Amino acid sequence: APTAPVFEALPQTAITRGPEAVAPPWVGLAAYRARGGYALAAGLAQGHVPADGVLAAMEDSGLRGLGGAGFPAGRKWRIVREQAALAGRQAAPSEAAAPSAGSGPREAGERGSVALMAVNIDEGEPGTFKDRTYLERDPHRFLEGVLVAAQVVGTAEVYIYLRDEYHGCRALLQAAIAELQADPPCALPRIELRRGAGAYICGEESAMIESIEGKRGEPRMRPPYIAQVGLFGRPTLEHNFETLYWVRDIVEKGPQWFASFGRHGRRGLRSFSVSGRVKEPGVKLAPAGITLRELVDEYCGGMAEGHVLYAYLPGGASGGILPARLADVPLDFDTLQPHGCFIGSAAVIVLSQHDRARDAALNMMRFFAHESCGQCTPCRVGTAKAAQLMQAPLWDEDTLDDLAQVMADASICGLGQAAPNPIRCIHKYFAHEVGEGPWPGDLPLPRGGVRTER
Ligand code: SF4
Repeated sequence: APTAPVFEALPQTAITRGPEAVAPPWVGLAAYRARGGYALAAGLAQGHVPADGVLAAMEDSGLRGLGGAGFPAGRKWRIVREQAALAGRQAAPSEAAAPSAGSGPREAGERGSVALMAVNIDEGEPGTFKDRTYLERDPHRFLEGVLVAAQVVGTAEVYIYLRDEYHGCRALLQAAIAELQADPPCALPRIELRRGAGAYICGEESAMIESIEGKRGEPRMRPPYIAQVGLFGRPTLEHNFETLYWVRDIVEKGPQWFASFGRHGRRGLRSFSVSGRVKEPGVKLAPAGITLRELVDEYCGGMAEGHVLYAYLPGGASGGILPARLADVPLDFDTLQPHGCFIGSAAVIVLSQHDRARDAALNMMRFFAHESCGQCTPCRVGTAKAAQLMQAPLWDEDTLDDLAQVMADASICGLGQAAPNPIRCIHKYFAHEVGEGPWPGDLPLPRGGVRTER
């Protein structure tokens, strides 16, 4: 496990261990450059740093998409680069170089590039606030990741999709982009900042792309994948904010630096957004694979006064709910699947004996029903119906199971497919709360627990 000095070696802007956490001051362009910022982007442009070496570093680091899907970032870069080369060869030279008409990119292809890039800062997963935290402190680290990715993959246009609720972040990012454009370290891609409109579903990559194109934000059927046919029909590199935030550190410090972190057989770092019944909530930069118990004890100062761990959500609304007895499961991509959960964007919400898991599950289902885009019936009707049924003191287990199965099997996108997770977790771990089993003797009884309500 990494020790404190290792964490002190991280960029000063990183959020470090809970008790020692220091919110660093805002890092402007001058301060960022003074610490070696933009040397990598400039080196790539001047040919001192080989693009293939950067791509290899990304692949070797094991960095995975940190928006929730967890697709290996380096592999995505290689796929988009290959798709762009293929599309460039297939397009007539005049077509590849001409600006598109209508709602398409105005300048795409003017440097002969076919690929586009889309950055997701919609950050709508309940409990997730890591992207905002990093953006508010060190926007140029993210922008350098954008420049490096754009050069390696070969794209002349970047669309940044920012959550509309982040008014302060928008002003901040606009200022940082203007600073960069006034004094660029290399030829810049055209950067366009787009505002979302508060729809959770636009955090799904294809819905976000539809929204950027000016359409209703509805997920697309796949294939074709975004890397092949994405924004405005072009091969598109789509990334979450935080994935790009780590690019500079990974390339400069080496892929082994990033991969050397990790616990319980996992590799890398994760930024956990921790909230709920802990002493010190916040963004916790911790080794991948850390357990909930370790995260709370070592990074959050323990449970809040008067609270005993009862349950936790490892991945926001979508990732399910686990009981306290599973607090020693490593938190990472893939490790939670055997327990019916997933980590997603690492939004950890901690519940105590003063909470009921069924209340959290109902809250999530109402959220899904509200945020369903309505494109497919299993999700549109299933989430609303499930939310109704979950209000009953005793659950109609058969009907909820049927609904869960249909939503999981027949929904188009991850929202509808993950919506049954709260139902299934309650059945599996908290059946005593919904009238399906006795209250386990070793569990703390939540305030207003079902024993007294029945
Ligand atoms: Fe829309 Fe839900 Fe269908 Fe996804 S699963 S496309 S959110 S209706």
